[in-house]
Amino acid sequence: MESFPPAFLAPLNQNYVTVHALSAGSLTLPEHLFMQPSVGGASNTVPSLAFLIQHYDTKTSKLERILFDLGLRKDLKQYPVPLQEYLESRQPLITEPDVSDSLAAGGLKPDDIDYVILSHVHWDHVGMPSDFKSSQFIVGSGSLALLELGRNPLPAESNSYFEADLLPVEMTTELPGVHQVTDAEKRGLFSDVRWKKLGTLPNVIDVFSDGSLYLVDSPGHLDGHLNLLARLGPRKLLYLAGDACHDRRIMRGELEIGMWKNLHGEQCCVHVDKEATLKTIELIARLEKMGVEVVLAHDSEWLNEEGNKKRFWPGKM
Ligand SMILES: [Zn+2]
Repeated sequence: MESFPPAFLAPLNQNYVTVHALSAGSLTLPEHLFMQPSVGGASNTVPSLAFLIQHYDTKTSKLERILFDLGLRKDLKQYPVPLQEYLESRQPLITEPDVSDSLAAGGLKPDDIDYVILSHVHWDHVGMPSDFKSSQFIVGSGSLALLELGRNPLPAESNSYFEADLLPVEMTTELPGVHQVTDAEKRGLFSDVRWKKLGTLPNVIDVFSDGSLYLVDSPGHLDGHLNLLARLGPRKLLYLAGDACHDRRIMRGELEIGMWKNLHGEQCCVHVDKEATLKTIELIARLEKMGVEVVLAHDSEWLNEEGNKKRFWPGKM
């Protein structure tokens, strides 16, 4: 095992966050679209995990709550019609409990959530934003352009239908791209939105400017794809990997990312940029070797571990 690099070690006065897993629905992924080699016709019903992050500022006595992803929409009929048709290929789908139900299990309401950060804007991560009337939404660079586009110009079988009106304009912040020159601006919880290097990670944003939570640029799956790195304790770091990887066997190098041909004979991949995804996966796998806990959005291996059941809200990671 590689050792914890100094950049990841916490100073004595370090502040921490608590992270709580939330059930936010399940969907079924045909194996050949995500990994290879795969057995013909095999599919896996996997969770779409969401997370509650709580940050307590000892100086201001302010408690802030963030959701990372919103999972599936409880009422599938609330998705756009083309997406509803596509969802037939993802059955069985489980939409209860949704993220709001899971918050309620620990006595919280959507109104208690200050910020919603979306790892990316695919249907199985965006839930029902209109439930979160008082929350501010944070998305990665390029996400708003995708939403406006409505449909990603990708090959036919893609899951990329986007809703132009998904997020409330006045409550949504899109982060700058990693190469975009930005001044340090005060925007909601970010006192500084400039990307910087942290240990082996080339581009992170220190969310609370106290090293307790970092947004991590994790390119490859979809424009604006974001991960989170959370400090839970002096040598306890948690990395939420979203859809950077769909199966731990790929991260371990046992399987490769799936490629397939569509009806027009075009090569397709579930990631818009496979090469960038491979680099992102390599960085994540390295963190795991250093002792950072990694959880994928669709992590059925993690979910099936008995000990993780108690890490769902109101329990904690
Ligand atoms: Zn997904």
